Amino acid sequence: MRRTAVAVVVAATVALGGGAGTVAWTDRQRQSADARLSAAVARVEDARVAVVDDHAGRGASAADADAAHATALLGGARAALAAAVERARQTLDASAGQVGDDDAPRAALADRLDAAVVAGPAASPARARGLAAEVAAAEQGVLDAVAAQRARAEEQEVAARAAARRAAAAAGTSPPGASAPGAGTSRDRCTTTYSGPAFYTSTPTDGGDGSNGRLPASALAAVSWTADSRGTPFYLRSDAAAALERLNTAFRGALGHDLALDLTYRDLDTQVAMREALGTVAAVPGTSSHGTGLAIDVPELPCDYGWDSAARAWLVAYGPAYGWVSPGWARQGGSNPEYWHYEYRG
Ligand SMILES: [Zn+2]
Repeated sequence: MRRTAVAVVVAATVALGGGAGTVAWTDRQRQSADARLSAAVARVEDARVAVVDDHAGRGASAADADAAHATALLGGARAALAAAVERARQTLDASAGQVGDDDAPRAALADRLDAAVVAGPAASPARARGLAAEVAAAEQGVLDAVAAQRARAEEQEVAARAAARRAAAAAGTSPPGASAPGAGTSRDRCTTTYSGPAFYTSTPTDGGDGSNGRLPASALAAVSWTADSRGTPFYLRSDAAAALERLNTAFRGALGHDLALDLTYRDLDTQVAMREALGTVAAVPGTSSHGTGLAIDVPELPCDYGWDSAARAWLVAYGPAYGWVSPGWARQGGSNPEYWHYEYRG
């Protein structure tokens, strides 16, 4: 439109210039020139109106685009906030009883969630993004606290086993299923580091509140293919049990036999008994990773699952595809090598 209007203005100027520069015009020529001039002026006016309309149109469509863009921004920011809130809520629920004595990270996350719920519906895109970032940061604080607590619990469990081994050595006894105290090192193909009293896998807790070692039957499922030496089913948190079923099917296909288990869920009473038997080196009741129903121990002896065994090689290679991993600390060269311990990470 702008280009058309300029061309018409040039045409009108030429017509006017021609009239001013010619003195010998006849009336007819003048009338003709006046007519052309009028027509040119009219076209210029039409073009000017068209240009103005065009600008107005451009302005309106730009305003519409700006409004649509703003709406999209707001929708995106609020959707991101809603997703962050939902994810953090699940983390908050799942971390109950998982952070040890200091519940401050969970309290901080709860505060952030409350703030996001109050401010979210009226928040600008920038504010919604800020709230989402605050929620995510608080959630990370909780995840870090859970990881730290898990590491502490495992260290305590290892220390408990070492103390039990020393106690057994001092008493001159060797519990069933355990190696002679002090035999070999964890780098040997198959050497248990545990020789304390036998502790068995646990059953669900009636009326359990879902905290560590107090998981109710509704939160747990028993694996289908095996039970412990006393006939107690091996319980795990339901999702972990379902994943282990799938893992076992693949394991059996590759190894020709089912995965053997020694211990899965451990309830609070058992952890308390360990504490009473072993003293302060035992894990503080309520902090064991087995208390969450997300850990298994395969048999330490005989050597079927030792460092260099085909079973362990398979579990380390393919377990993660089913959510089951050998934690870094439990690997050879890790802080507490335990070839028998695996955890469900989802
Ligand atoms: Zn374990």
